[in-house]
Amino acid sequence: MHYFQYHDSELYCEEVPLRRIAESVGTPFYIYSHGTLKRHFEAFDGAFQGLERLVCYSAKANSSQAILRLFARLGGGLDIVSGGELFRGLQAGIAPGKIVYSGVGKRIDEIDYALQTGIRMLNLESVEELHLVHQRAETLGKRAPIAIRVNPDVDPLTHPYISTGLKKNKFGIDTAAALEAYRLAATLPWVDIVGIDCHIGSQITQAAPFRDALASLMELIRELAQTGIRIRTLDMGGGLGITYNDEQPPDPADYGKAVREALAGTELALILEPGRVLVGNAGVLVTRVLYRKTGDSKEFVIVDAGMNDLLRPSLYDAYHHVQPVVHPQGGARMVADVVGPICESGDFLARNREMAPVNSGDLLAVMSAGAYGYSMSSNYCSRLRVAEVMAAGNRFEVIRRRETYADLVAGESVPGFLA
Ligand SMILES: *Cc1c(COP(=O)(O)O)cnc(C)c1O
Repeated sequence: MHYFQYHDSELYCEEVPLRRIAESVGTPFYIYSHGTLKRHFEAFDGAFQGLERLVCYSAKANSSQAILRLFARLGGGLDIVSGGELFRGLQAGIAPGKIVYSGVGKRIDEIDYALQTGIRMLNLESVEELHLVHQRAETLGKRAPIAIRVNPDVDPLTHPYISTGLKKNKFGIDTAAALEAYRLAATLPWVDIVGIDCHIGSQITQAAPFRDALASLMELIRELAQTGIRIRTLDMGGGLGITYNDEQPPDPADYGKAVREALAGTELALILEPGRVLVGNAGVLVTRVLYRKTGDSKEFVIVDAGMNDLLRPSLYDAYHHVQPVVHPQGGARMVADVVGPICESGDFLARNREMAPVNSGDLLAVMSAGAYGYSMSSNYCSRLRVAEVMAAGNRFEVIRRRETYADLVAGESVPGFLA
């Protein structure tokens, strides 16, 4: 459910016509629906009602200050994968005790930053990292609260680039080795074992992989208990998928039920790290058609947003609905590639897409672009990163201004020998 709907053939975000935002901020821009974000957070969090839980929103899906602030207000914590995301979370007012830190390649400065800040838990992904965290904790005189990220070797049945819980993936420590890592951790005075963690992949549209991962983790928790290691917190990671086209992912409620069943009779506190499911369908990328072009065998719609603004189609061959912001009156539907201005053949937003007829100057909405959209955007081809806007009811505000040409060179300098 989201609040991007047509009224009288015009697409609105809540009560604001997207056309009006385009007139005010120019194109392209990302628009997020406050009401949708709030609804998604509450539905997800509510699915775990009764359990001791913390919903740590995964910052990398969309790390906008406004969105982090909104989730923080709703009681959420944060799942981070870098020092930069820790900074963003603290800036947005998220309590350090609600922040968990995953990632295979944490640097010393990032580990120190996390320890000094006093975050809830570091999710460790290798034995070398465990040793380093122990050593830094001792140096700083701050005990490190840790979990081991377990790779349960389950197939999340998703795109290979976003599966993370298979043996061949770089993430986590496999189940047998994790047992050893916990035994080692138990001997290290400066680490405090608080949890166990997994994250098996992203855009998961079936319940079975989650069930399998849960079963595997619960088994490991029992084995650890037998060796005297008590796990207090289970971090299930993120990964719940959304509908981009015709996928039918499990409801948060169904997912919650599976978790509830697995945790019955335990006293485990639960951490969840949803990203996409909270923000994906709460955001849209609005772009303007620059040109139409008919090739030898193809129809092209050339728009002012490109792969640097929304990488998912190019990177994962991902599908996004592309819809007119104002429905045309009549005209035959057409089949076209919707492409950006970038000098790469991989620069497309949709391919061989049947769509309503469009002309230069028309606005198009690229739907379901709230997750891994702006956060993956770049300045490739010295394109300015676009504006981000949030709408609530009949109001809208820019939450990140469009970059300027001056921003492009702001961090650069010419070496003295070239002056
Ligand atoms: C990316 C990521 C998430 C969020 O994944 P979604 O599929 O967006 O829910 C959660 N935890 C970790 C460790 C991640 O890397």
